[in-house]
Amino acid sequence: MIYLDYQATTPLAPEVKAGMAPWLDHFANPHSPNRWGREATAAIEVARGQLASCLPSGGRIVFTSGATEAINLALKGAWVGDRRKIVTVVTEHAAVLDSCEWLERHGYEVIRLPVGRDGLVALDDVSAAVDGDTALVAVMLVNNEIGVIQPIAEIAAIAHAPGALMLCDAVQGFGRMAIPDGPDLIAACAHKIHGPKMIGALWARDGLALEPLVHGGGQEQGLRSGTLSPMLCVGFGAAAALAARRREEDAGHVTNLWEAALAALGPGWTINGSTEQRYRGNLNLCRAGLDGARLISELRDLAFSLGSACASGSGRPSHVLRAIGLSDAEARSSIRLGFGRYTSEAELVDACRRIASAAEAQGRFAA
Ligand code: PLP
Repeated sequence: MIYLDYQATTPLAPEVKAGMAPWLDHFANPHSPNRWGREATAAIEVARGQLASCLPSGGRIVFTSGATEAINLALKGAWVGDRRKIVTVVTEHAAVLDSCEWLERHGYEVIRLPVGRDGLVALDDVSAAVDGDTALVAVMLVNNEIGVIQPIAEIAAIAHAPGALMLCDAVQGFGRMAIPDGPDLIAACAHKIHGPKMIGALWARDGLALEPLVHGGGQEQGLRSGTLSPMLCVGFGAAAALAARRREEDAGHVTNLWEAALAALGPGWTINGSTEQRYRGNLNLCRAGLDGARLISELRDLAFSLGSACASGSGRPSHVLRAIGLSDAEARSSIRLGFGRYTSEAELVDACRRIASAAEAQGRFAA
């Protein structure tokens, strides 16, 4: 199996696995005052510090069950007086879009801004939408389907001018690139950076008022009740520390892979979204007449996808590809190849050549 679905999730790093292993046996409750409990708390605080080194200074980190929960906490828990307007972008992840829909049902006004063919939101559109009623502007750093990078610092400055907050879903960029200055709330998770699933975090600027969604024992500074898992927190911290240490090496490897993949695929493919403002570990491509779903079932030992793993069961064409102007047919003719730290150039080239010849064969049969 050649794994090319790095946007859906990433393989656990061996260093992370080794760091987590002792915590399978060390079962103490980190909220207990005894020595074992204090050891677990200490390990969690080391992990919090490791995450902090990938995030801006001047904020606090709340561990959550994943980025979905972190995004829900930010959107539903951050209050800016009695403001009731949210500004977001049509290509956001379902965690943002569905939370916004829920807020709409509870009296909020939600503005969903369009994107251009390049997948990027226009700053003029953000400026026109944000006003004195706006509580929060939610825009992601790297798009999970097409990899484009939104101008986060500029958007945060626009949000701040009339006193709104800025939430950045940084899941696909966290640990891989510096988080731009400006956001007041940042969501991230471990499993996109070679850490374990079911652990994420919300970074919140100091002094920002947040209401918890989950009530109970008051853990995580009263913002997320429930017993923390030392093993998952340690895994997240180790993954973040490793990503920070390897950032340049990983980025260089990804750029080489991107070029090798394009060369091996050959002509006939169009890259979806901006080719400049993007993370190069995400190659989302369209080929006229291709049946992307059929290609996946024809190449069963290659793990790639059509778009977001969350939407893949729905059978609906991707909302992101539709938003950048692709027709339903073009969206169904698009595939997403995601690669990174543990992808070798040889296996990627092999996979891309097989994808190209299977795609050509589809074209020959259709002709
Ligand atoms: N935001 C983006 C951009 C994602 O890619 C994902 C994961 O698919 C999420 C949010 C949700 O993350 P989690 O799986 O930790 O809930």
